[in-house]
Amino acid sequence: MATGNINVSVENIFPLIKKFLYSDHEIFLRELISNATDATLKLKHLTAIGEAGGVEYGNPRIEVKIDKENKTLHVIDQGVGMTKEEVEKYINEVAFSGAEEFLEKYKDSAKDSGIIGHFGLGFYSAFMVANKVEILTKSYKDESAAHWVCEGTTEFTLEDADKKEHGTEIILHINEDDKEFLEEARIRELLSKYNKFMPIPIKFGTREETLPLPEDAPEDAKPETKTVDDIINNPNPAWTKQPNELEDKDYKEFYRELYPMQFEEPLFHIHLNVDYPFNLTGILYFPKLTGNMEIQRDKIQLYQNQVFVTDNVEGIVPEFLTMLRGVIDSPDIPLNVSRSYLQADSNVKKIASYISRKVADKLKSLFNNNREDFEKKWNDIKIVIEYGMLSEDKFFEKAQKFALYPTVDDKYLTYEELAEKIKDNQTDKDGNMVILYASNQDSQHSYIEAAKAKGYEVLLLDSPIVPHLLQKLESEKEKISFVRVDADNVDNLIKKDEEKISKLSDEEKEKLKTDFESVVPKEKYTVQLEAMDSDAAPLIITQPEFMRRMKEMQQTGGGGMFGMGNMPEMYNLVVNTNHPLISEILNTKTVKKQERLIKQSLDLARLSQNLLKGEELTAFIKRSFDMVK
Ligand code: ADP
Ligand code: MG
Repeated sequence: MATGNINVSVENIFPLIKKFLYSDHEIFLRELISNATDATLKLKHLTAIGEAGGVEYGNPRIEVKIDKENKTLHVIDQGVGMTKEEVEKYINEVAFSGAEEFLEKYKDSAKDSGIIGHFGLGFYSAFMVANKVEILTKSYKDESAAHWVCEGTTEFTLEDADKKEHGTEIILHINEDDKEFLEEARIRELLSKYNKFMPIPIKFGTREETLPLPEDAPEDAKPETKTVDDIINNPNPAWTKQPNELEDKDYKEFYRELYPMQFEEPLFHIHLNVDYPFNLTGILYFPKLTGNMEIQRDKIQLYQNQVFVTDNVEGIVPEFLTMLRGVIDSPDIPLNVSRSYLQADSNVKKIASYISRKVADKLKSLFNNNREDFEKKWNDIKIVIEYGMLSEDKFFEKAQKFALYPTVDDKYLTYEELAEKIKDNQTDKDGNMVILYASNQDSQHSYIEAAKAKGYEVLLLDSPIVPHLLQKLESEKEKISFVRVDADNVDNLIKKDEEKISKLSDEEKEKLKTDFESVVPKEKYTVQLEAMDSDAAPLIITQPEFMRRMKEMQQTGGGGMFGMGNMPEMYNLVVNTNHPLISEILNTKTVKKQERLIKQSLDLARLSQNLLKGEELTAFIKRSFDMVK
């Protein structure tokens, strides 16, 4: 029997391993299964090129086994195995120096976890959960087997052993503190988190399978069951296949496999597949994203050669696409580095822009191939697209071809179609094209109707980031402005060169203005006289576009100029000097009566804007009853 010393300079590396990755104990299993997978795939390669010395590949699997009595956990493979010399070399020297180097490099940046600690520790991560580790291994090219034992110190023993089949068994004697890893449920959880799509079948225990009844079975026949190996993984997940091998239903099935708790179907998928200048495969799904962005449980998962790494893809996937779901798999993403390094890596940058390009291309082809269907999905996907247009110039450009602007009448127009439609009727006297929009069809109903009566097209834009998007569109396009329908009286929304004639003389106007200003609170309303049609509303409350938009932008983050968010709400009170009620107010002799008429009219205007609430609403109702009785 050989004994020896593992060749290291850092004497206390084991305690360090345990401490450093304290929170990430569970990754040991993934590391061991990765090694078992590598060893099996190596054998597959050797047999394929006829270099395996007559050993057959067969149908190898990896087995994970718990032995509660002996407090051991076993990971068994049928791969290439190791000769004694290889154990010396790969376990005692190379693997250890790898672990050592890793710790040296990262021991100061333990706080910057996230991706650190995912890879690089390899075999020695077993000592995070075991005080003693055994390797029983037989190489495909050797007659004798080897048995290595190490008890978490730098000493080890290595001797000949008895093992018939090629392959390796790793035996972990689990620490008292880590006995959770002797629980079947816990191991099953880890296997399904990290190994669900690994390329070699992984057996964990057995399960009962119900056999199908034969065709001619009697009605009351009970189906038979049989005990079969429980294979916990799908070794050939959809993303490893070519798009032309898959049908729509395969993509949907894979979605359910990825997110078993997700009952809503995805809207569509995007299959990613590149091998130059970097390697990346994957499938992204557009989920239904209605309303506010919910807290996201089901995220995009990052794999490396079918091994789960993380579901934090920040920095790798463009931010606006992190709301999508699915998987990406790339061996070219450096993993044992910090986030800030990741963001500077040129490969990673290329990956992010590739993904964003593919998504844009897919959206464009969906739009071109089936516009009707695309329009139906628009409200569920617009947040992602609008966010992408805001945050990435390239995406903004591509989106010109498929971004839609819905109208209050349920038409969905591209920007180009919209401009063509409105340019004649909605260009003001200075040559600016004014695009009208509403954010809420109910509360802005009267304004929408007034605009439509003028033949204007009104968009319905209701995502939370709309104010930012409009700002962006106004700065990208020439001579356009967006104005919400309630920003002004309809005649002022798009200023044309036509003078409206007022019934009132200048003196009368002067008096009317003073009368109103003595009643309405001036810190809230600016009184503004307008000669409108006599059948238009007598009073209209409007809020100037600029001010409202700045406030909204501040509420949704960004655009924090002028401290608008803290400004009090200010409105314009537009008084229609051609309306009979206004003439009546002007000509009312008693001050008391005039005040009551103004108050009542103002409250009605507020009511139509949904601005009358609480105590004031109660007072209004009481006053109204008094007036009708
Ligand atoms: P890595 O997998 O990154 O090479 P590890 O520390 O995980 O680093 O493993 C060190 C080496 O030990 C492997 O490269 C391999 O040569 C050998 N090894 C580990 N596990 C096995 C196994 N199950 N079968 C064969 N060789 C193995
Ligand atoms: Mg490894």
